[in-house]
Order: sequence, then structure tokens, then C-alpha cells
Amino acid sequence: MAMPNAATDLCFRSKDGAFGVRLGATARDQMLGLCVRAGRLETGGVLIGRYTADRRMAEIELATGPGTDSRAGRSWLIRGVEGLQRLLDQWWSGGRGYYLGEWHFHPHAAPTPSGRDTRQMRSIAASPEYHCPEPVLLIIGGDPAGDFALHVEVHTRTGDRVRLGPTDSPPLPHRRRSSVSE
Ligand SMILES: [Zn+2]
Repeated sequence: MAMPNAATDLCFRSKDGAFGVRLGATARDQMLGLCVRAGRLETGGVLIGRYTADRRMAEIELATGPGTDSRAGRSWLIRGVEGLQRLLDQWWSGGRGYYLGEWHFHPHAAPTPSGRDTRQMRSIAASPEYHCPEPVLLIIGGDPAGDFALHVEVHTRTGDRVRLGPTDSPPLPHRRRSSVSE
């Protein structure tokens, strides 16, 4: 997928419009930078941000990198938890943002979720600890410095996976977001 305009956020939506994700330029650049540094190894972290008032769109503001206790190979990643709770607490206090889901890198491979990826997301969706019944999974595949591809899906509370495709037209609540008090 080509990324023609580096300055703009990217929006993704499910076919039925029920689920949306806005990937902020800052979070996208954080992830791509981490992928470049990871080279041929997987890397990843969590997605932090907010939901729109109607909760139809998750707005990703921050993408964390792997914690010091993370471990990675060419096709696997054990995302650590070191420092994560403190970061989430900082965002949560003051209502700046919440845990929205997970992201990781498939180095020079397709961004297709593996069976393990799917099982992990199902367990997160079902876990009371995450307080996130509909987590986002974002996978970056390919070459992060060149021709990369993004896969975005939402795991629903009923155990379904909903694929989101790129869209140029975010829902109206997002367009009006700048005038909505938060
Ligand atoms: Zn994966």
C-alpha cells in the first residue's frame, strides 16, 4: 500500500462502517522507526489513544515499542510488560488515552495475522485486566523504509475478527472532533 502523504493521519473502516481506526501520523512514524531499527526481527508494542464519542472509531495517538522484557525472533515476538502499566496509568489519569490494542511487525513478510496472533487477541478481548473488549490488531509487513503494508482488524467481544480497509472518509464525528470538548 502506498503512503503518499506523510503528514496525514490514516483512516481505516470496516465494510459495514461499524468499526473505524484513525492512525495518527505520530504513532505511525513511531512504529515505522521501530521497525527499521528492528531490522530482520519482529518488534511491536501496544496502541494507546481514545475512542470517538460514539465509540465507532479508535484514534491511535501513541504506539509503544517493545519493553525491556520483550523477546523477538524473525517470526515471533513476546511483547513484554515492563513499564507498560505505569505508562497506561499516566495516560489514563487525566483521560488522555487508553489501551486500544496491539501492533507488531512482520519483517519483509505479509502483514497477515498468524494463528498465534489471533489467539493472543482473543485472550486480550476476553481478559478483564485489559478493559478492552474490542482490541485493535495492527500489523506492519514488508519493508518499513520503503514498500510496506498495513493490516488492521478489530476483535469483537463476540469473538469475531473484523478486517478494516483504508478509507478517505472518516465518519462525521471525527471531522468535527476539533470542536468537541474532551
Ligand atoms: Zn504476527
